[in-house]
Amino acid sequence: MTHGHNHLFVPGPTNVPDRVRRAMNVPMEDHRAPDFPALTLPLFADLKKVFRTGSGRVFLYPSSGTGAWEAAISNTLKPGDRVLMSRFGQFSHLWVDMAERLGLEVICLDVEWGAGVPVDQYALHLSADPDIRAVFVTHNETATGVTSDVAAVRRVMDAAGSDALLCVDGVSSIGSLEFDQEGWGVDLAVAGSQKGFMLPAGLSMLGVSRKALDVAAAAGSGMPRCYFDFADMIKANDAGYFPYTPPVQLLHGLRASLDLLLEEGLPQVVARHHRLAEGVRRGVDALGLSLCAVAPQWHSDTVSAIRVPEGVDGAEVCRIGYERYNVSFGAGLSKVAGLVFRIGHLGDLNEVSCLGALAAAEMALADAGAKVDFGAGVAAAQQHYRETAAVPAVAA
Ligand SMILES: *Cc1c(COP(=O)(O)O)cnc(C)c1O
Repeated sequence: MTHGHNHLFVPGPTNVPDRVRRAMNVPMEDHRAPDFPALTLPLFADLKKVFRTGSGRVFLYPSSGTGAWEAAISNTLKPGDRVLMSRFGQFSHLWVDMAERLGLEVICLDVEWGAGVPVDQYALHLSADPDIRAVFVTHNETATGVTSDVAAVRRVMDAAGSDALLCVDGVSSIGSLEFDQEGWGVDLAVAGSQKGFMLPAGLSMLGVSRKALDVAAAAGSGMPRCYFDFADMIKANDAGYFPYTPPVQLLHGLRASLDLLLEEGLPQVVARHHRLAEGVRRGVDALGLSLCAVAPQWHSDTVSAIRVPEGVDGAEVCRIGYERYNVSFGAGLSKVAGLVFRIGHLGDLNEVSCLGALAAAEMALADAGAKVDFGAGVAAAQQHYRETAAVPAVAA
């Protein structure tokens, strides 16, 4: 029997704010009712604000983020199409795997786990090979806590005169980190409900540029597809409906989540994530630990993957955190299994949540055999939060 609630520091699913949870507590409704579009049409309009796309549109699929990956590929690319991808963590790996299984000819650049998209290598491939049909970027690699520079990828595409589609996985960035679909020329932008949107899993979002909509609409374009077909979605969505039964509760939750994000203001949301993340990073540093991200340019403001000391098992840190302290940390995945544990700091969190994560991490690390200077991580984060508080402390 435990008291209080489990403290969720996995980087998705994230904490669902009370306002969002209450908004979802509604009786089932008729999704073909005449007033249903009054709910859905403003959702589509407000999602465009979060993705920052004026001329494109955002689709909502009843799926996890992985479904929107598949929607992006199957509507715009054909088996045999050559695409440029890079792999530096479990999520970029899985997107490569999907692209290969759907028959794309993938040029996959393998990068050290802890770094991100190799923009210079992308530039070389793009200028040498005009047949590259799409360029893929995992904006925030959730497995390693690495954020890549999407705008820089757009610049090298333009410099090479490439007309490829730019496809971005923003599942753990959109709604939390700076993201500008139109400004960065992103053609397909994937998001999921259970990360920055602070909802349960079950809705994916796909931002699609005008250009990608035109590609998908061209005769013979893309792959055989049905469930994810843009054309079916457009026909139904334009009237405020879906081609199949939408998860109505999640749509009500999304209404509340978009209200929260837009009321706070997107620049403020981005700044809050940066500030909370910086406190965690200072705590990690003060504990003498290092991040999986190999240089500050890659630091993610939504998740920190923390290397455990030599001889300590990261999986043990997670297990002990869960069993003894009722805290869920993210485990190390695949190549970094056992080598890291992760603190997700995205969505509905505040200073005290992050201090709690650090305090629990200190205990779990010590229990797992690490030498810990108790309180050092917490103190460094406290100092950062006090120094950067919106309402500064009055000097004594
Ligand atoms: C969580 C995540 C995914 C997978 O999303 P699902 O909703 O689990 O399908 C893909 N990419 C990134 C970067 C993620 O963080």
